[in-house]
Amino acid sequence: VLIVSTDPASSLSATLGAAVTAEPRPVPGVNRLQAADVDAARAFRRWLSPRTATFAQIAVRGTYLDDEDVSRLLKLAMPGVDEVIGLLEVARLARGFDVVVVDTAPTGHTLRLLAAPALLGRVAALVDALQSHHRAVVTALRGFYRTDAGDALIEELRSDGERLSSLLRSAGTEVSWVTLPEPMALEETADARAALGAAGIAVRRLIVNRLTPPPPGSCEWCDARRRFESRALAPLARRFGDLEIASYPEVEGEPRGVPALRSLSGQLTPWRRQRVGPRVAHRVRGRPHAGRAAARPRCLWLDQGVVPVSRPGWLLFGGKGGVGKSTCAAAAALGYAETRRVLLLSTDPAHSLGDVFGQRFDNTPRPVNGAARLHVREIDAASEMDLVRRNYLDAVDEAFARMTRGGAGDRAAFRKLLDLAPPGIDEVIAVADVADAVTGVTSGYDLVVTDTAPTGHALRLLRTPAVLREWTQALMTLLLKYREVVGAGSLAALLVRLSTRLRRLQAALSDPTRTRFIVVTRPATLPSEESSALITALDGLDIQVGGVIVNAVGRGTCRRCRAIGRAQAREVERFRKTYRSYAIIEAAAEVPPPHGIAALTAWRSSWRQVTS
Ligand SMILES: [Zn+2]
Repeated sequence: VLIVSTDPASSLSATLGAAVTAEPRPVPGVNRLQAADVDAARAFRRWLSPRTATFAQIAVRGTYLDDEDVSRLLKLAMPGVDEVIGLLEVARLARGFDVVVVDTAPTGHTLRLLAAPALLGRVAALVDALQSHHRAVVTALRGFYRTDAGDALIEELRSDGERLSSLLRSAGTEVSWVTLPEPMALEETADARAALGAAGIAVRRLIVNRLTPPPPGSCEWCDARRRFESRALAPLARRFGDLEIASYPEVEGEPRGVPALRSLSGQLTPWRRQRVGPRVAHRVRGRPHAGRAAARPRCLWLDQGVVPVSRPGWLLFGGKGGVGKSTCAAAAALGYAETRRVLLLSTDPAHSLGDVFGQRFDNTPRPVNGAARLHVREIDAASEMDLVRRNYLDAVDEAFARMTRGGAGDRAAFRKLLDLAPPGIDEVIAVADVADAVTGVTSGYDLVVTDTAPTGHALRLLRTPAVLREWTQALMTLLLKYREVVGAGSLAALLVRLSTRLRRLQAALSDPTRTRFIVVTRPATLPSEESSALITALDGLDIQVGGVIVNAVGRGTCRRCRAIGRAQAREVERFRKTYRSYAIIEAAAEVPPPHGIAALTAWRSSWRQVTS
């Protein structure tokens, strides 16, 4: 068996308690198990290197580009190619194994990963458009055409795309969806299953993780949590009855390392419909471990230190999937909106702010009922991208319509260049709007709060503006070359506009007077290891970390809750010691989760700062 992670923020190594690298290595203590993390950038370089010369030859023959232009294009980092290459890499690593278990990135991005094979088809179409010019010329000169390395490459791209696409849909591929016994998680599951089904990929199995078992002794927390979970899971049979459903219980210690994982795997239980308990009448707040100082200062950072000094300021919330970053972002935004005009934006493709406020939102900023100064917008990155795509195609057509000689191949290539636009581009273009808002170009707000996609992809989003700017600039350089034949026109204007917005976005992100990143985590080892990696990456990107929220701290009074509470306390303490210079905030666990203005406000007022 090979277990391989395609999540850019992989937790495999921490989970298995073994070193995991880009090539499969045996997991100590398990006879036939090997593990690997896909390193997409490395895999892409390895994939491209033997093909570079052929790509360059096709481009030089098919367009007005010269060697230098082409080599510049091929050197561009292509964000999003990682997803395609990730799949190709899994297929490569899978050779020689009987079973391959793939651990994918969180929801929104998994859906993209599974759509990746189609991108290979689009690359093939672009390259084919370039090559067709060459084929026509050769045929006209010689009277016949013999296929060459270029045609072989096009065929390879096409067949790789088809092979991956049918592999994902074959009987040997099973998708197991992992969820939590919470209403929001089940909504996300239903959405994902519908999206996968529409793409012809069947979900076979549903795994409900961290189900609270009966408490060993009386425990208000466990009782409330069990009632809440039973109500959340009541519709399970009706909505997912055709799937194989199983559950794992919540366990005292985090399941890390082979012995703990073995013991957990013995606790997988087929799902049985359970009695639905009465509604949780009183909100139950988790009690933090009693061993720590009782009198801690209240949370100061809503007033000082964390909020950027420039107006409008920009606060980005990010963290691992499932840590509650949307809830934290919403609670903080509500607090700020008591005195400021605040725009709360979600860029996570799996939007959840609607659930947090119990109100529907869309791509237009809408006021929150009962909080007039707070507006919410859930960015529809796909429709923003469609708009850009339409503008781009109109501009290309307009430019080439004025062309005085030939150029059909170039026009097709220019049109397809945007089809190829890496999957990450839509989010960045949508977020470039945010940059306009925070740099005051279109601002009616004092503060913009952004709920980002889970870690790995939030980082990609933050890295992408620079990469995309290189991309637009390379396109502009090419366009300059074409200027004498097609004139610059609106295509140049469009690229300049895009490049300007990206520059503004980049500048806004790394402006410490304007922008702060709030890392949301949980008091457990895996999330806090990932948060440490996130903080290091943010430092590397020159993005100022404003604070860390350790969410869902505290449990009940039974033996299991107390053990979990002690482990939580150790994690909070470790964080406090490692990151003394940041504002570290403890936010209490609650059943049911704080949704709606009243619950969010009460919850936020219980936040405590553990650093001074
Ligand atoms: Zn308990």
